[in-house]
Amino acid sequence: MTRLSIGLRLTLWYLTIFALGQFAFGAGMWLVLRHHLVSLVDENLQHQTEDLQSFLMMQRKTADVDKFREEVTEAYTPEHAGEYLAISTSTGDPVYISDFLKKNGFAASVSPGRGSTTGFVFEDRVLGKKHLRFLQSSVNTHDLIFVVSMGAPTKEVRETLRAFRNYLLLFAPLVLLISSAGGYWLSRRALAPVDALTRTARNVSGQNLSIRLEKLDTGDELQRLSDTLNEMLDRIEKVFLRTTQFTADASHELRTPVSLMRTEAEVALRRERDVDSYRDALQHILKEAERMSVLIEDLLVLARADSGREVLKQQPLELGEFLRDCIKDWEPLAIRGGHILNLHSRDAGTVWVMADESLLRRVLTILLDNAVKYTPAPGVIDVLLEERDGCAVVSVNDTGIGISPEERSKIFDRFYRVDRARGRATGGAGLGLAIARWIVECHRGSITVESAANKGSRFSVQMPAASRSSLPSAERAGSQPQ
Ligand code: ADP
Repeated sequence: MTRLSIGLRLTLWYLTIFALGQFAFGAGMWLVLRHHLVSLVDENLQHQTEDLQSFLMMQRKTADVDKFREEVTEAYTPEHAGEYLAISTSTGDPVYISDFLKKNGFAASVSPGRGSTTGFVFEDRVLGKKHLRFLQSSVNTHDLIFVVSMGAPTKEVRETLRAFRNYLLLFAPLVLLISSAGGYWLSRRALAPVDALTRTARNVSGQNLSIRLEKLDTGDELQRLSDTLNEMLDRIEKVFLRTTQFTADASHELRTPVSLMRTEAEVALRRERDVDSYRDALQHILKEAERMSVLIEDLLVLARADSGREVLKQQPLELGEFLRDCIKDWEPLAIRGGHILNLHSRDAGTVWVMADESLLRRVLTILLDNAVKYTPAPGVIDVLLEERDGCAVVSVNDTGIGISPEERSKIFDRFYRVDRARGRATGGAGLGLAIARWIVECHRGSITVESAANKGSRFSVQMPAASRSSLPSAERAGSQPQ
């Protein structure tokens, strides 16, 4: 079943609520009018009854029932007022009854004990096809009590009410029709920007992610929706561009070693060579293959970083011990490169962090590798550990070529190398610092660089130091984390 559009559904809701409102209003007005008209009839009957009471009171004290009969018949018969009048004594002896009431067999329903001139009983009756309203009451005169039934036709009241109802029934559908057309027009108008947004959004694809939804200035929910969608498109476009750029850069970086290996193999196979030449060629190919493995490994790390699926195996790590271990691995390489590698710890105690040891070792490897690569021999590389404001700070200082201020902000970008030609010679693809930054940020830390051209660089990694309470009891007993 196809669902109705929002515009149509809104209109239907609006119509239903409006129709219910209209019905309640019409019925209410009808009841108010009826109450008002019936009150007028009742008031009139009351006045007439009071007049009759005055008339009866004016009769002589000594008058008997026959005398009353004579007087009332004389006064009321010619008058219209007597057309629906019936008077009887408290014992039921008729005093006066109009021809109409007599003909239609009228009988009063009020007994003297129940009524008085102040206690009225109103009653609706149909006599001879006429709708009448009666006021029945007991009237005391001197010694006698009369039961008076004063009637009035309600034809006009009924006709007015019928006319009012007919007008309502006639105009209500008309008003409903006009209001539904208005409601539909209004909902279409209100939802028109949504249609425009939908049309534009439908055109957005990977090829034209720069398309933006129309900027609305309505200051309402629709403007918030279009602004939010535009912000979302901004983010998607950025990620998309970064991914395509990353893929293009990765392909480019992978193409170079592959074509080098291919050329090397082709040249070696072009003619017969001696064993040493073949060994040379194979060694070159091996070197490129190794370089490619490192590159692929780095790309995989970054792909995992982008997917957000990397799970850190964090555990308490004592940084002094950890750094000593790293430096032991790197010392032979540094010495071979003509450098001195030192570890300084400004903190007499120990510095603990919660970290994934293998990932943190990767950061140190990247920083030490760069320090060795970009420091001409003889150089000094100092690794410094300290604890500052609840943070563990590890800095790697070198006396190398340094980085100019304009390059400093870019070196953490993927595939960025200050000197591309030199980068290849030193084996880097420009991914090391991007990986290092991602790892440090995963540990809620930050990585910064200070540098002076031709004097050296200092890369500092800051991470939150582990509090004593967060460490397992064995580590707490064995050392004093701050
Ligand atoms: P690479 O694999 O090329 O070293 P990195 O991301 O590790 O890639 O570094 C990016 C660039 O930053 C390097 O190409 C280099 O120009 C510069 N750089 C990094 N570390 C240092 C350093 N210690 N001294 C001077 N330049 C550095």
